[in-house]
Amino acid sequence: MTKQEKKIKTLFIAVYLLFGVLITIFVSLMFYNSLQNLHSKVFSEYKDVYIKNSNEEAKRVVDYFIDSIKYKESNLLASYKEKLKQKCETGYKIANFFYDRFDNKLTKKQLKSVILEALQQADKNYVVIDGKGRIVLSPYFNKGFDVSKFRDAFGNRIFNIIKQDVENSKNAESFIFCYMNKKHKNKPGMCDSGFLLKRIVYAKYFKPLDWYIISSVMYKDIERKLQRSIESEIERFRYGSHKKNYVFVLKIIINNKGLKVQRIVNPNLPKKLIGTFVPLDIKDISGRKFLRDMLKVAFTKKEGFVHYKFRVPLSNKILEKTTFVKYYPQWHWLVCSGYYPSVFYADLHKKDEQLKTFTVENVKKLTVWLVVFEAFLFILLLFFIDRIMKLLRAYREELENREKFSKHLVESVPNPLFILDKNGEFIGVNRAFVEFFLCETKELCSKNEDPDIMLVKDKAMEYLKGIDKTNPKEFNLVDNDGKLRFIELHNSVFYDLNSEVAGVVGVLFDVTKSRITEMELRQISIKDELTGLYNRRYFNQILPREIERAKRYGYPLSFIMYDIDHFKKVNDNFGHQAGDMVLKTISDIVLKNIRNVDFVFRIGGEEFLILLIESDEKNAYGVAEKIRKKVERYNFEDVGNVTVSLGVTGLRSSDTLNRIMKRIDEALYQSKNSGRNRTTVI
Ligand code: GH3
Ligand code: MG
Ligand code: MG
Repeated sequence: MTKQEKKIKTLFIAVYLLFGVLITIFVSLMFYNSLQNLHSKVFSEYKDVYIKNSNEEAKRVVDYFIDSIKYKESNLLASYKEKLKQKCETGYKIANFFYDRFDNKLTKKQLKSVILEALQQADKNYVVIDGKGRIVLSPYFNKGFDVSKFRDAFGNRIFNIIKQDVENSKNAESFIFCYMNKKHKNKPGMCDSGFLLKRIVYAKYFKPLDWYIISSVMYKDIERKLQRSIESEIERFRYGSHKKNYVFVLKIIINNKGLKVQRIVNPNLPKKLIGTFVPLDIKDISGRKFLRDMLKVAFTKKEGFVHYKFRVPLSNKILEKTTFVKYYPQWHWLVCSGYYPSVFYADLHKKDEQLKTFTVENVKKLTVWLVVFEAFLFILLLFFIDRIMKLLRAYREELENREKFSKHLVESVPNPLFILDKNGEFIGVNRAFVEFFLCETKELCSKNEDPDIMLVKDKAMEYLKGIDKTNPKEFNLVDNDGKLRFIELHNSVFYDLNSEVAGVVGVLFDVTKSRITEMELRQISIKDELTGLYNRRYFNQILPREIERAKRYGYPLSFIMYDIDHFKKVNDNFGHQAGDMVLKTISDIVLKNIRNVDFVFRIGGEEFLILLIESDEKNAYGVAEKIRKKVERYNFEDVGNVTVSLGVTGLRSSDTLNRIMKRIDEALYQSKNSGRNRTTVI
């Protein structure tokens, strides 16, 4: 494994581990969080259910006692009614018995006395009232006391009610509830509070003596008995899962001094506190007057829940308490039962702790599983990394091979080759390039120090940028020996994977040899073999170009045409070879007397034209005369003297080649005509 592969592998593992740790933490936290949420949801639901159940239970218990009181009270009442009825029946039977037996034997008065005696002996509490409402027999009132005007709490005459009820009944008997109020306080056993008191009265009419035999009982007495039994039942009663919940009873007492609340039953209070009064404004530890709240519930809704914070009896613990209060108006009892939600909260807290432990344990388990899973994944990852590495290595080797091949290819190109990126920086050059520019190493070639390399680079960049699209491009370089070299640069743009221009590849061709050959060939074809002067063909090429150039740049141009005088004779007299020699010699004389920039053309057999660049006709005339004289004075071997006639003219703005040629022909003609060996300027 290479260093780089090791690096990549380490990186992979590091990233994996980092992610693994992060994911583990994240998942565990999420799991923990969701368990917590679930848990608090369960907690609050449990709490709601608990409160609901506790409320219901408290209510049920209180309802049970109230119902039980009602039931027992009605049973008691029924049994008392039955007792009273029986007593009255007995009284009636006694009266009847004596009446039947002694009616004829005793006087009425004696008879009554016997019956009353018998009644009294049977039960001291019989009351007998005659039809006019006067007491016949009573443990409280004297005989003859008129009770017909006694009124009940509603202002009705009690005796009248009894009388009417009896009259309306089948068996001349009646059962009456008699309601009294505190007006009767002075009468013992009748009333001791501001509330109505019931007396149960049973009356049976004994017709023979117009007597109402009455048996009655003060309801309060019955009630007390019942209350005591209920109180002791409540006292013993416990309920709830811990059997700690209980019922307590408070009694509301209203008298002249106002309202008081008395502790009647409270299983959790010391005995000595039972019967004492609870201060009306008693506050719980949060300042709430909870007794007032209870009374409010009692008087407005008859039943309801009261919440307060309570010091647990016989303890310093302060707990919340919810109490269900139900008012039993017949007895002015507040039957209450409460529970301590805080006790439950403590329980719940324990459960909460258990749940938390459970949560943490589960999160731990999950984490362990995650780690195991990640370890498994890790092994898989290692396996895959190795596989990927192998693939990558194979791929890289292939790439390297390809690169080597490309390099080899580039190297194998015999011509200097270079690759530039789009910014003009060298990507590479081949060995031929190094050898061509003699820069020793490829790196040195790329340093942009050699002016020739810079030139090549500039040309390639011009092509790449589209400044000069000529391809191939030819230019000259001077080599180390000072020789001019003709170079051809072939450019080719290359593209990256996105098909965007990436750079340019340039290949240099040294075309010096072929260019020189070309030029030599050209030289041959434009020169006359005999004289070495430019031939007529070249004349046709050069003249129009030079005329055009002179016109464009506005410099003067002049022409000299010359013809050897009587040349025919030279040929005739000395032979053709001598004639050729004369032609050659005169050409040499002419070449010596003109500048390098000037041209001499052989335009006919022995007719010549000199083109003088940047020279006016005056100047040309001078040159013509100089040539004429030089020829005139020259002694040609075997031949002797030869002369030439010349015509001169200068370029005019409206000139064409034809016009010039006509004019100069004319000038030469004039020279010939006017005796030869002379120069005519037109
Ligand atoms: P003029 O003074 O009127 O010019 O008389 P001329 O004899 O020179 O007459 P012309 O110019 O008509 O004669 C041209 C002669 O030049 C004819 C031909 O034989 C001769 N000639 C043309 N070309 C050559 C050549 O290449 N070599 C030789 N030796 N003679 C040539
Ligand atoms: Mg001639
Ligand atoms: Mg001629």
